[in-house]
Order: sequence, then C-alpha cells, then structure tokens
Amino acid sequence: IVRTRFAPSPTGYLHIGGARTALFSWAYARKHGGQFILRIEDTDLERSTQQSIQAILDGMAWLGLDYDEGPFYQMQRLARYHEVAEQLLENNQAYYCYATKEELEHMREQQLAAGLKPRYDGRWRDSQETPPAGVKPVIRLKNPLEGHVTFNDLIKGKITVANTELDDLVLLRGDGVPTYNFSVVIDDLDMNITHVIRGDDHVNNTPRQINILKALNAPLPEYAHVPMILGANGERLSKRHGAVSVIQYREDGYLPEALLNYLARLGWSHGDEEIFNREQLVEWFDLAAINRSPAKFNPEKLHWINQQYLKTTDNARLAELVTPFLAKDHCQIDDGPDLALVVDLLKERVNTIEELADAAVYFYRPLEPADELKTQHLTAEAKPIMLGLLEKFQHIEWTRESIHQEIKTAVKEHNVKFPKIAMPLRLMVTGEIHTPSIDAVLALLGREETLTRMNSHLS
Ligand code: GLU
Repeated sequence: IVRTRFAPSPTGYLHIGGARTALFSWAYARKHGGQFILRIEDTDLERSTQQSIQAILDGMAWLGLDYDEGPFYQMQRLARYHEVAEQLLENNQAYYCYATKEELEHMREQQLAAGLKPRYDGRWRDSQETPPAGVKPVIRLKNPLEGHVTFNDLIKGKITVANTELDDLVLLRGDGVPTYNFSVVIDDLDMNITHVIRGDDHVNNTPRQINILKALNAPLPEYAHVPMILGANGERLSKRHGAVSVIQYREDGYLPEALLNYLARLGWSHGDEEIFNREQLVEWFDLAAINRSPAKFNPEKLHWINQQYLKTTDNARLAELVTPFLAKDHCQIDDGPDLALVVDLLKERVNTIEELADAAVYFYRPLEPADELKTQHLTAEAKPIMLGLLEKFQHIEWTRESIHQEIKTAVKEHNVKFPKIAMPLRLMVTGEIHTPSIDAVLALLGREETLTRMNSHLS
C-alpha cells in the first residue's frame, strides 16, 4: 500500500511551495488508494512556533488536504531516536564525537586554506583517546568510506554520489535533539512511508539518508524530488512575487479549490487541461508528468483560474464567503437586499471574493462619488432629467423591466444617448460608474433606497 507524507518544519507560514509539495504527496496517495500522513518536524527549537503549526494545519484544512494519520510531532518521539542511535552505537555503525565547536571551526579554516572542501575529518571515528571532560558528545554515523550511493529518483532519474563526498553525519546533537537527516529517516521508516515526495532542496540529503537506512538494514523508500517554484523573474519565489502564504490567499478572497487547481498545474500537467476538480486531479495525477525544470509562479494565471471558479460557484456559498469581507467594509447586510442576489449580479465581473465585496458595498451603504465624476456626469443639463425620473420612479412598478422602460422613455423624450441618463443615475445611486446594468442594480436596491439616494444629490 502506498504511504506518503508531508513533513513541514513549523518555522513560518504554510507557503505556496510547501502546499504544492503537500498536494502532490496527497494526490499520489489518493490516486493509489493509499494513505497520507502529516508529520510536523519541530526539532529546530529556536525557529519552531505554535503559531506556525496552526498555520500549517489551517492551510491544509482550507485546501482540503486531508490526512489519514497525524499530525505527528518529532519532539514527542525523542526516545525513539535515542533508541535507534544506541542501536547504531552498539553495532559499531555510529560513534561519539567530542570535537568542540572551536575545533570544528579550526578544522574548517584549515581545509579551506588548503583549498579543500570543508568536511568532518573523522577524528573520533576509531579513536581510543580518553574523552575530554565536560564536552557533551554528538553521535555520528560511520558513513562508508568507499563505494557509491545510487537511487532512482522518480522525477529526476538516476542519481549517484560517491561516499567520499559524504562525511560522518551528526545523528544526535549534544543536547539529545536529532538532526533533520536522522529523525526524517527514522520517521519515514517507522511510519512505513513508501514514497518520499519532497522539494528538491533535499536531494543532496537523500544519499546521506540512504546510508542511515543501509546501516539499519532497512528497506529504502522510493524518492521523488519536486523542482522548485520560481518567481516570474526566475528568482526563487518570495514575497516580492506576490503573496506566498496560503492563508494570505484565503484572506485575499481566493477560493481553496482554485488555489488547489493552480498549485496542481504548477509544474505538473495533464494535456491542455487548465480547470479540473480534485477528483479529476486524483484520477490523472502522475509523478512522471511532473516537470523536471522549475515551475514559474504566475499570479495572473491564478487570478484567472479563481475567476473561472467564482463564476460557477453557487450564490449561497459565495454569499457566505463574502460576508466577513463586507462586515470589514462596514456594511449592514441585514439592512440591504438579499446578498445571494447581489452576488449573482456581480460574480462574473470580479476575480476574487475581496473584489466581490468591494463591488457589493453600495448595495448596503451609499458611497459618495468622486468630485470629478460628479462634475462630468451630474451636469446642469442632467439634473432636471434626473428630477423627472425621480418623480416617475415613485409610481412605477418596481421591477427591472419597468425601470428600464422608464429610462428608455426619458432617452426618447430628451433626445439624448442612453449613457446621458444611465451614468448620472448610476453615479447618484452607487457612487461609481462601473456597475452592472443600472436597471438591475436599482431593482435590487429597492425603491426607497434609490429615491433617498437620488434625493440627496438633487435637493
Ligand atoms: N522538514 C523538512 C522541510 O520542511 C521536510 C523535508 C522532507 O520532506 O524530508 O523541508
């Protein structure tokens, strides 16, 4: 059975890159009827925070990346890492190293000065020396001194590294906390992970991890290293390329299924399909179709995908999603028209829920038009026409059709073009000049509110 995992370090928000790695791991497990596990790698005590753990959990829940087991926390598994380290010591596959920070620094400087690549020289590997007092030793792996490590990456193909390139890796630090390479191996082993799918910033760690597994005589998982995500300018993705935090996208009014769809398309494709739902993704997903070169993050594309989803999302759900945004905009939704109807009128015109809220504000409170727009549209010529309409509006049946009829009558009567009537009317009632068809807006807004707003500009 396929078992994959997502193993974030809780040292910041859940970012776009992490979410995409999680998505690929999740999709692979789901496709193969397997299991997906969440493991929080919180061994970096200085940088790990509760807040970040929460952001990871929230982000995954929002995207609908459900896991079958976890979250597991590495700091709750210390005893297990110690146990395995002991076992390696006993089997003479690991050893205590008492080199101090100063010694290691000195070693490094000398190697650099001699034009060598800095690496631990194995001075405690087979040492009979008496350990110095007062130094808390680390435990290092006895990396093989010769031969090669080879693995077949499911995305990158065959990778081979000479053991002479790898030094004796620290497994447990002096304070008893494991290094990333050690804990990740023990966890993947204990959790029966069959496919390690992760960012290719870890590809250099994999031979080291394989050597730990070999020392334990344990089976190797498959590895798939996913290329990075770059900004449009080819640099590593960062805040400068737009929001990189998943939760920020929720706050900016994106739909989770749209972000998920976009993330899936980032470095992976299924023919020319751009819009697909989560079931289709699971059905089509394939590690072999992941691009070998880095993907480029394109906020405009995400915007476009979000709009495609907004158009087809039902009004009740959109109304619910837009409510907190409107509340932030000081709108009293209960005092205005049915939000589902407002949303229906606007949803094709916007790209995000936030834009939807901005476009809906005038239904719930009057907006004062900009002075230059008033000068332009609410002219001395327009005002008497508006007064005439105001009068008529008091008596007609309040439907979109009769409002439209009334505007058309005014167009004829005054022998002007349609916008000469529609624009000042729109400006008085909505404070804006870009809105859906004005008859539809007025019908929804209601007679009383329409008349009040017109009056405030005409008296
Ligand atoms: N904690 C590591 C990270 O966040 C996980 C790497 C892995 O998946 O093995 O980069």
